[in-house]
Amino acid sequence: MKGTAMRTMVPVYYPSFRCIASSCRHTCCAGWEIGVDALSRERYLGISGPIGDDLRKWMREDEEGEWVFRLREDGRCPFLREDGLCRIILEMGEDALCLICADHPRWRNFFSDRVEMGLGLACEEAARIVLHEKRKAVMIPLTDGEEESLSGDEEAFFAFRDRVLAVLWDRGIPLTRRLDNLEEAGLACRTGNISGWKERLMSLERLDESWTAALESLEDMGESTGEKDLSLEQAAVYYVMRHLSPALEDGLTRERCALAVLLTRLLHALSRDGDIAEWARMLSSEIEYSDENVPEILEWILSDEEAGAL
Ligand code: SF4
Repeated sequence: MKGTAMRTMVPVYYPSFRCIASSCRHTCCAGWEIGVDALSRERYLGISGPIGDDLRKWMREDEEGEWVFRLREDGRCPFLREDGLCRIILEMGEDALCLICADHPRWRNFFSDRVEMGLGLACEEAARIVLHEKRKAVMIPLTDGEEESLSGDEEAFFAFRDRVLAVLWDRGIPLTRRLDNLEEAGLACRTGNISGWKERLMSLERLDESWTAALESLEDMGESTGEKDLSLEQAAVYYVMRHLSPALEDGLTRERCALAVLLTRLLHALSRDGDIAEWARMLSSEIEYSDENVPEILEWILSDEEAGAL
């Protein structure tokens, strides 16, 4: 282990992740213009030969002044080959990837004494690993770091999160009941039945037609059981680990916990048929990764809470 300024903590399943590249059915190398960080751009500007010419040809400055790779007409990254492999890796090595490509699908949350890092469910391989993990998704150290102390707010935050995780890891009862218990204990605002969210979810930005069809057929579900129960636990813990910590900035602790509950109930309802990991991937790309949809949902949770609606 290499010493760093701050220790990095990851969930137990993190070391299993490898990008499946050409076998990926929902590659992250299509559908969005990939940001090129300043260091990579500087490097790409000095590369000779056909790959250097192409790197320079496909970089452009967007409306916000950020550098990105333009997409091809079919919406794919210009360096993604027909066989699903990346030309930059093949011709220049993995180290030549720009930061965003090297980093995806990882997410990070920063605290005074640690960085927490995990695998985002919008990646199909990450979703497969996370949703099929059997162990409790506790955090383990990936790198050492210097001893730092937590602020008072952070200590209160971790104490709150530990209470939430203890409820979610109470494996003696179905996960659906554990979600109810979070609300009963006042750790999450109440969000009610999933069917009551249909109209709101339909009003959000949607990317895929099959998502619209899935929302149209949403129904309330009974208790979760068996393997699915375990997958839902992994999803709920993931949503908490990823989305609770911004509460240190915005103060929306119970609302963010309610977001995790809502997303888990939604995943339960969506996955009544089919592969739960694929549903989790779709849910993340449609909602969880959206900078517009998540704040909108938090706003609804907050206004319901203020109105005492549920
Ligand atoms: S979505 Fe995940 S598995 Fe697929 S290409 Fe991207 S990082 Fe690799």
